Amino acid sequence: SMSAKPRDEDIEDEYAGEVAVHPETHRPTYVWDTMKNRSSTGYRVVTPVCPDTPKPEGAVRFVCISDTHNQAARLIQTLPAGDVLIHAGDFTNTGRPSEVKRFNEFLGHLPHRHKIVIAGNHEVTFDRQLMTEQNSHVFMSFATALQEVKQEDWKHIPALLTNCTYLEDAEVNIMGFRIYGSPWQPEFCDWAFNLQRGQPLLDKWNLIPAGIDVLVTHGPPLGHGDLTTSKERAGCVELLTTVQRRVKPKYHIFGHIHEGYGVTTDNKTTFINASICTVNYSPSNKPIVFDLPTPKIP
Ligand code: 5GP
Ligand code: MN
Ligand code: MN
Ligand code: MN
Repeated sequence: SMSAKPRDEDIEDEYAGEVAVHPETHRPTYVWDTMKNRSSTGYRVVTPVCPDTPKPEGAVRFVCISDTHNQAARLIQTLPAGDVLIHAGDFTNTGRPSEVKRFNEFLGHLPHRHKIVIAGNHEVTFDRQLMTEQNSHVFMSFATALQEVKQEDWKHIPALLTNCTYLEDAEVNIMGFRIYGSPWQPEFCDWAFNLQRGQPLLDKWNLIPAGIDVLVTHGPPLGHGDLTTSKERAGCVELLTTVQRRVKPKYHIFGHIHEGYGVTTDNKTTFINASICTVNYSPSNKPIVFDLPTPKIP
């Protein structure tokens, strides 16, 4: 007999081929439990490439890090060699100029030919709305520290990143690869680049062009690298559906949920949570490396 309440399968069918807000988007743990056994949302843990493995001929090597929280300098001696370094946000604790300059100096010492950086929720001064309105509890609790910022004019802080390509809802072509970066994540504790789950975040994901090879976001999608110590799923439902149904990147790099560090796949996209810091902000996780064949020049 017909049921008044749609089954999850019906909800899934209703949205097939398009990305719309999931009716239970505010309950990511529940949504993942309804999805995780389906082939369309396959899930498998992946053993990453050992950084000591020589790069295959004709390949481009990517080195992924995230969530270094002012401790990136500790990686200087051990960071694997590669062509493209990617940092998926939270390189500072509050985005003060002194922190950003320190991180930029670290980048300047690295031999990697290309460096891609996005902001995370800790790069408070990079969030123009938050800095303009000054109504976040984070802004108020850091008011003294951020006085340094007002004098120096926060609008110029991203320009302190002279040793990398900073991506904020933007794409760059590097060695023939289309790489897109975005800092937004589901709201949590009123930090930078927080947005409500559902349409506000989907509006940002709708800016990602289809056909991107490497997607970089600060937060994880639902189900991949998003399990918190309290066993909740913190990932964004609409980021997962955008990745799986529309953008289909080869790799999706992120951090934010430090305890979600590691590599997984849905058999189409490889998902990398590259958090260097543990949940206790100890910078002890290893950078994650992957290789892609160099795109043929048409
Ligand atoms: P951060 O402050 O560096 O952005 O995040 C640090 C830690 O806060 C994460 O490793 C995770 O334990 C927790 N956290 C951050 N965002 C969320 C969220 O949206 N939900 C939950 N449950 N925990 C979060
Ligand atoms: Mn972090
Ligand atoms: Mn809402
Ligand atoms: Mn974060």
